Amino acid sequence: MRSVDEHLTEILGGVAALPPLDLALLEAHGTVLAEPVTAPVPLPPFDNSAMDGYAVVAADIAAATEADPVVLPVVGDIVAGDSGVSAIRPGLTARIMTGAPVPAGADAVIPVEWTDGGNANVRVSRAAPAGNYIRRAGEDVVAGQVVVDAGTRLGAPQIGMIAAVGRSRVTVRPKPRVVVVATGDELREPGSPLGHGQIWESNAYMLTAAVAEAGGTGFRQATVEDEPGKVLEMFEDQLVRADAIVTTGGVSMGTKDVVKEVLAGTGTVGFHKVRMRPGKPQGFGLLEGTPVFTLPGNPVSAYVSFQVFVRPALRAMQGLDSDPLPTVSAVLANDVKSPAGLRHFMRGKLSFDRGAYTVTAAEVQGSHQLGSLASANALIELPEDVEFLPAGSHVDVMRLPS
Ligand code: AMP
Ligand code: MG
Repeated sequence: MRSVDEHLTEILGGVAALPPLDLALLEAHGTVLAEPVTAPVPLPPFDNSAMDGYAVVAADIAAATEADPVVLPVVGDIVAGDSGVSAIRPGLTARIMTGAPVPAGADAVIPVEWTDGGNANVRVSRAAPAGNYIRRAGEDVVAGQVVVDAGTRLGAPQIGMIAAVGRSRVTVRPKPRVVVVATGDELREPGSPLGHGQIWESNAYMLTAAVAEAGGTGFRQATVEDEPGKVLEMFEDQLVRADAIVTTGGVSMGTKDVVKEVLAGTGTVGFHKVRMRPGKPQGFGLLEGTPVFTLPGNPVSAYVSFQVFVRPALRAMQGLDSDPLPTVSAVLANDVKSPAGLRHFMRGKLSFDRGAYTVTAAEVQGSHQLGSLASANALIELPEDVEFLPAGSHVDVMRLPS
């Protein structure tokens, strides 16, 4: 038997960041940037108006009040996108729109609300300091500044920022393409009827979704029967297209544990008992250079194994730190028992109440009991040596992605 950390260390030693790829900006959404993106020009690129109003010389309207407005002749109209260079002289004003370049000679913008909105002449009823409502060139970003660092996952704000500095393509680590395959003679497709002794296939659905939550692209494949020839054929077909392969089932001690039978001794794949619950039987290795994770068949075991072993590996493949799921310290709401010598990942409900996290362990913790996983939002992580913890104890809790 090996520890969770020993197994994870072997996995992380076997995976590498995927080679960078040049992608159109929207195709890069959700991928991890592989280059720092810098601004070629300042943002804003020019001084511009923050309001719809009038560009003025501040000194001209220094005496303006409601009772005694200053009247200025309006000599022009400047709209956003105006490419002509404009200027005003003291004693004159130009109407200006939000985002339009401030004309040379002006040092303040008076919002239309402070005026009578006049066309030929405008009455300004409030004074303003120099710089009023002017957005200065470079006050958002200076030229040459890194606006998004390498290693950042590109969400909506980063996509916007990259477009704003004029880039239509970026170099990123692509999303790992992960093939997900369930094995088992008893499995039927959801949507089709069940015969006696059969169940609907759920692991491959669950893990394909989990791959997406981990930043990859999951491809759920047809379920493979417990037949060595078919399992082998599946691996041969999938290896060419996958950055990683995840299987479930067929890796424990039964007579139909064909995944183990087929892969043992192939590539670098090894099968181990890991000191954890759920999820003890694990397999990992490289087949023709492709990482292959053979997870146990019980649904909760498969899911926990994915979060503990596959997710960090997918992060490493994206060039990210192989961090575990975000973990908080919480107070246990109920007593818990744990098997000696196994790291225990218990399903629980985490809540934040009056400044502290509280977690309630689910009543049932069987590895086939998907119901309590579907209603959990966290995994309580109990170290190997813990056998009992009373309510009120502090525990580490991993938040599940949602
Ligand atoms: P195995 O590891 O193949 O012996 O499977 C262990 C248990 O998990 C058995 O009860 C299987 O029926 C169940 N199981 C295996 N694969 C799946 C799956 N893809 N979906 C739902 N249950 C599964
Ligand atoms: Mg099976």
